[in-house]
Amino acid sequence: MSGTTSDKDTQQAERREEQMREAENLLFSETPRRSAAQELFHGRFAGELFLPYPRSSAEEQSRIGQALTELKAFCDAHLDPAAIDREADIPRDVIDGLGRLGVLGMTAPESLGGRGFSQRAYCRVLEELGGRCSATSILVNAHHSIGMRSLLLFGTPDQQRRWLPDLVSGRKLAAFALTETQAGSDAANVQTTAVPDESGEFFTLNGDKRYITNGAIADVLTVMARTPGQGKGKSKPVTAFLVTPDMPGFRVIEPRMSKVGIRGTATAKLAFENMRVPRSQILGPEGKGLKIALTVLDFGRTTFGACCTGAAKTCLRLAVEHARTREQFGQKLGEFELVQEKLARMAAWTYAMEAMTTATAGLIDRAAAGEPIEYMLETAMLKVWSTERLWTIVNDAFQIYGGAAYFTDRPLERMLRDARINQIGEGANEVLTSFIALVGLRAPGVELKSVWDALHHPLREMGTLSRFTWHELARRMESPDVAVHAPALVPHARTLSRLIRQFGLAAQKALMDHREEIVDRQLAQEPIAAAAMELFAQACVLSRLDHELGHSGNGSTAGESGRRAAFLFLSHSARRVGELLSERRDNDYAAIREVAKSLLDLPTS
Ligand SMILES: Cc1cc2nc3c(=O)[nH]c(=O)nc-3n(C[C@H](O)[C@H](O)[C@H](O)COP(=O)(O)OP(=O)(O)OC[C@H]3O[C@@H](n4cnc5c(N)ncnc54)[C@H](O)[C@@H]3O)c2cc1C
Repeated sequence: MSGTTSDKDTQQAERREEQMREAENLLFSETPRRSAAQELFHGRFAGELFLPYPRSSAEEQSRIGQALTELKAFCDAHLDPAAIDREADIPRDVIDGLGRLGVLGMTAPESLGGRGFSQRAYCRVLEELGGRCSATSILVNAHHSIGMRSLLLFGTPDQQRRWLPDLVSGRKLAAFALTETQAGSDAANVQTTAVPDESGEFFTLNGDKRYITNGAIADVLTVMARTPGQGKGKSKPVTAFLVTPDMPGFRVIEPRMSKVGIRGTATAKLAFENMRVPRSQILGPEGKGLKIALTVLDFGRTTFGACCTGAAKTCLRLAVEHARTREQFGQKLGEFELVQEKLARMAAWTYAMEAMTTATAGLIDRAAAGEPIEYMLETAMLKVWSTERLWTIVNDAFQIYGGAAYFTDRPLERMLRDARINQIGEGANEVLTSFIALVGLRAPGVELKSVWDALHHPLREMGTLSRFTWHELARRMESPDVAVHAPALVPHARTLSRLIRQFGLAAQKALMDHREEIVDRQLAQEPIAAAAMELFAQACVLSRLDHELGHSGNGSTAGESGRRAAFLFLSHSARRVGELLSERRDNDYAAIREVAKSLLDLPTS
């Protein structure tokens, strides 16, 4: 018996080692690239990545303005979110209209019929759509941010010529099919297989996919499947294939799974039965499917930030309107402090969400222009932070409306249902929270490990020790420089600087306390990730405010009340970081584990 257990343990340990090796290969590139969020984990502030706040050229601003005007006019006339929800369908003429406006190919180059917009410009457009109809914005996200994006980034010239013009124009739709029964959060556990024939020119795909947005209405799908491994590793790599629904063996099991929210989107279950796919339809390098998935998800997660910002703005507008007009106890609701608290919090978070989206999209644009910038931590932070905050914002707006929100003649019950998917889709927030903590802690961890090794071989590793001691000492004594222009922001910049230093030290302490076990200590990871997200949010808000205060609000969509809310955000978020950092010393982790274990150990009824 004990032999069986230890065999199982060894197998688990081997699988885990392999997973870690695969994750390292997937996530970290050879080329050194700077990440604004990663620097926080070292207790540093990468000012040049946060400041100045990203700005469009006058020419792009005018193009964005024009695109937004056209989109608003189109949506006013043709987009009926309540009907889309009721009918559980986005009418084809809405999709065609968005195609005509260029929304379905916004960031594609003009040479392919796209608008050539930056990621930031695209986010402005998605914010507008997300503020009106989440289902429609998710359709666009699945088509553009992940479906078509994979072809734009990884397609061969032939593949691009064959498919992109129709996808960019919206004549055809794209989908991205990764999820399966056994491969949800554990995306690497894809079971769909792609077996090459003897010539190696064709692959036979077998397997099924579920929960695929646009799955049954898309004309081109990126499908992840396992191909035979090359090299030493035991596991078979995942490869991306481009498939079309007319290929023999492509089966739609369920075209529109009935669901809670974003009901207008067509979420499908698909199967592939001996589907022959030519080698020429492999997307990107063979065996690099997960790398492609991770790359496009960065874009998808950024647009989650934009869509959540749009939805948050709508909730805030609705809540303010109601609080201004509805009277109880002879007073307007807005005169009650507990209502004011909700409104102020909603405004503060909405301002921060917009700032984080713009800053993250700005980093993507700079990287696209050739700067050595990494942004996977930032996109994960934006996704988790904005989807969690939106959930509370919708709930706050709902509460301010009281019973009136509960009925289907008002938009809030739909918005509540629609918002729920955000915390699950494109990486469940728990998985991403752990990812943020572990990826963030990796570099300080590597540094600490070399010190640990050096302590055990002090003579051989004297260089490492002396470098580390100097480095550490210097950092412990200095808080990073957070340089802002607006005098009103100087105290907040100082607070941020102090908190970043404290956070850097807390990150090191967590590594020293838990060593390798930090990988399994999700309760300890959570406050680290949450504090990092707050610091990232504060830096984005400071950057945005600094820009707005220096330009008399020019280009700002927030106005005076938005800026007041931004100051509230800075002090509120700073306090939150203090609370999160103190959790390391004062927590209920052991009790939480015990209660959960006792529940899980109960016999199944
Ligand atoms: C409406 C909708 C549209 C979708 N569209 C697409 C699409 O277009 N293409 C596509 O490929 N997929 C799509 N998905 C799938 C989506 O990405 C997955 O649902 C998501 O990745 C979670 O996987 P799962 O549902 O299998 O949940 P599971 O993996 O079973 O996880 C369930 C819960 O367990 C917890 N959990 C899981 N792992 C961990 C962990 N390591 N640590 C802590 N907690 C954990 C989390 O709370 C998680 O929410 C869609 C899903 C929905 C609902």
